[in-house]
Amino acid sequence: MKFVFVYGGVISGVGKGIISSSIAKILSKTGLNVTCVKIDPYINFDAGTMNPIEHGEVFVTYDGGETDQDLGNYERFLNKDISRKNNITTGQIYKKIIDDERSGKYLGKTVEFIPHVPNEIVRRIMECARGYDVAVVEIGGTIGDFENIPFLFAAKKIELMNNDVVHVLVTYLPIPRILGEMKTKPTQHAIMNLNSYGIVPDFIVTRSERDVDDRRKEKISKYSNIKFDHIISSPNLDTIYEVPLKLLEQDMDKKLLRALKLDERPSDWSSWRLLVDNIHHPKKTVDVAIVGKYIGTGSFVLYDSYISVKEALVHAGAKLGVGVNIHWINSRDYSVDSLKGVDGIIVPGGFGSSGVEGKIFAIKFARENDVPYLGLCYGMQLAVVEYARNILGWGAHTTEIKQTSHPVIDILPEQKELIKNEKYGGTMRLGEYAAVLARDSLVYKLYESSGRIEEAKEKIKSYEPFRIGNVRPDDIVVFEKHRHRYEVNPKYVDDLAGAGLKISGIHRRADGINLVEFIELPKNRFFVATQAHPELKSRFENPAPLFVGFVKACADKKN
Ligand code: GLN
Repeated sequence: MKFVFVYGGVISGVGKGIISSSIAKILSKTGLNVTCVKIDPYINFDAGTMNPIEHGEVFVTYDGGETDQDLGNYERFLNKDISRKNNITTGQIYKKIIDDERSGKYLGKTVEFIPHVPNEIVRRIMECARGYDVAVVEIGGTIGDFENIPFLFAAKKIELMNNDVVHVLVTYLPIPRILGEMKTKPTQHAIMNLNSYGIVPDFIVTRSERDVDDRRKEKISKYSNIKFDHIISSPNLDTIYEVPLKLLEQDMDKKLLRALKLDERPSDWSSWRLLVDNIHHPKKTVDVAIVGKYIGTGSFVLYDSYISVKEALVHAGAKLGVGVNIHWINSRDYSVDSLKGVDGIIVPGGFGSSGVEGKIFAIKFARENDVPYLGLCYGMQLAVVEYARNILGWGAHTTEIKQTSHPVIDILPEQKELIKNEKYGGTMRLGEYAAVLARDSLVYKLYESSGRIEEAKEKIKSYEPFRIGNVRPDDIVVFEKHRHRYEVNPKYVDDLAGAGLKISGIHRRADGINLVEFIELPKNRFFVATQAHPELKSRFENPAPLFVGFVKACADKKN
């Protein structure tokens, strides 16, 4: 089997995820079947309960995993589904070992850190890699972290098991302002540190503000015994999608294949280059307001919690040749002024009461002023609340916030029962579910040309029945990812539809209940919302159809 292990040195947050994704993409463009694995050395079982301030967005996999956001990067680059299995945490490793010990599987032996912990890590990595030509395994954190150690041990072990393994160390080269010179010493130390685990990196990818010059490369090469032409420069770029191109400029494809003992093979990057070019030279630029509850940490605001929404806009813009200028609007201190002049409004997913009235205000503004609107999950639920309040005159709300005369968004009792019986974890609807589209809807038109309806036909053949529901032979089906507890209350659907809110897609649940998946307002130029998270299935080469429709509507409005 063949593996590329990616480690980080010097500091965290230098973009190991993007380098790993780029390496995987480079290999996959040569025709190899590639997958990516993310190792998170924290003790949490998964990212589901982690604070977005600490960890950014929770990414959801098709099979319902709540994972690290790097899995989102892998999917966006590789244009491929990645399983929940591919996010390995220390918590999962220890839980499995302790469970096995409790059930007597160790037959009275002492269970020890070495070898049992690395063995379980190796087992899991092997399971992820099975069936693929190459697995790119990214080890979270920074070399030198205590929690990293068993994973480094496991990586070495995989090498000793006669697999073809390439080790890539991503380091940071600071340019201290007082010196004005790029320094290589921290990188040399990171390499030494990795060496102390028996791992000699095959490649050093240097992250920096600027390109690394030959002088610095020579230094790293000489002091750390790394091949000069295996020191790869990865400076800051305008868009992350340019990173693989930057690596290719340095023949990373040929070098990686050689290091993996594979023959050279051609790859075609023309369509990717075209998209990158569209990002650099958009024909026009639109202003989009994302009205959300922004998370501040000290004097910084983290937009990482909406990274998939941001990237989905980039993907749609790249396809259309439209630049998207995002205005991050805090739903807690909104005003009409902040929305005036924008070409489109998005209300993304969210939980809880904070900023809810601001979001409803923004939705009303979009509806009344015919500003293109895209509602994602909470953004759809609140669009239903807004419509029920202001068109039907009901005292409506979601029961997540308040019990009112018209609980238009609610947890369905049957849903609770279903979740309990199927035991698919917690109380959330997680992962992909089939939606049946109405043929006369804008939503259907948007999906029609995307290839996703064909893709869904394939998927249905092997999917778990609860994700498909009661699909009929002539139904038009698409799959989107979910992460929510509440649903549009079926009791009110007929009244809402009668008042002009078009239901453009439903999930036919196995028990006969129809769940609302998509809504739209045909009167408006673009007012579409979904219970799903289409941003989690947007890829650079396969943008989410609703985002393409939305960005196009914003651009048309601007004309
Ligand atoms: N809070 C809502 C729910 O749980 C929406 C969740 C979301 O936007 N992801 O149903």
